[in-house]
Amino acid sequence: MRRDDRAVTDPIRIREIIAGCTCCRLGLCDQGRAYVVPLDFGFVEREGHYTFYFHGAKEGRKIDLIRASGWAAFEMDRGHEWVRGDRASANTSRFQCVMGGGPVTLLETAEEKREGLQAILAHVTGRDGWDIDDSALEKTAVFRLDAEEVTCKVHP
Ligand SMILES: Cc1cc2nc3c(=O)[nH]c(=O)nc-3n(C[C@H](O)[C@H](O)[C@H](O)COP(=O)(O)OP(=O)(O)OC[C@H]3O[C@@H](n4cnc5c(N)ncnc54)[C@H](O)[C@@H]3O)c2cc1C
Repeated sequence: MRRDDRAVTDPIRIREIIAGCTCCRLGLCDQGRAYVVPLDFGFVEREGHYTFYFHGAKEGRKIDLIRASGWAAFEMDRGHEWVRGDRASANTSRFQCVMGGGPVTLLETAEEKREGLQAILAHVTGRDGWDIDDSALEKTAVFRLDAEEVTCKVHP
């Protein structure tokens, strides 16, 4: 990161920022062109390794691209705020941002899909242990991104 004074490496701080983000933008490659799609997400963190979970319709552009490439970049942020100043150079922006990428996989078994949906629901609602019936699982695509790289930048 060019501005390494703004890089965050404390794992507790990174987790706190991820936990406070409400939307994750996935970057997919479509025949050499970028396709960015915003999604709700959930996550599981084990010893600094993040698995992000997403869900949606079983068809559509993102699902086609996930099947085709199997890899995605991601970005999420919170606390974006413009700071206005009297001089052009005094105008700036505050933010807390996490980016990265990794293999992305469509989940096949009911057990895996249930685990993914539980992670999304836990993140979105703050509650665990939702009842998820089999018909909802059947109708929904659930996929996961195993982050191979995670970087965090904060402009306080
Ligand atoms: C904050 C936020 C959270 C969301 N959470 C989820 C989620 O958890 N799960 C989910 O499935 N969807 C979610 N959506 C909607 C998501 O962004 C996509 O619209 C949806 O997933 C369909 O994507 P697709 O690639 O299958 O597009 P398709 O339905 O195949 O549509 C293809 C084309 O439609 C256009 N398009 C698609 N999505 C958008 C969009 N959001 N805005 C403008 N143009 C668009 C693009 O030009 C794209 O090429 C969310 C959107 C927002 C803004």
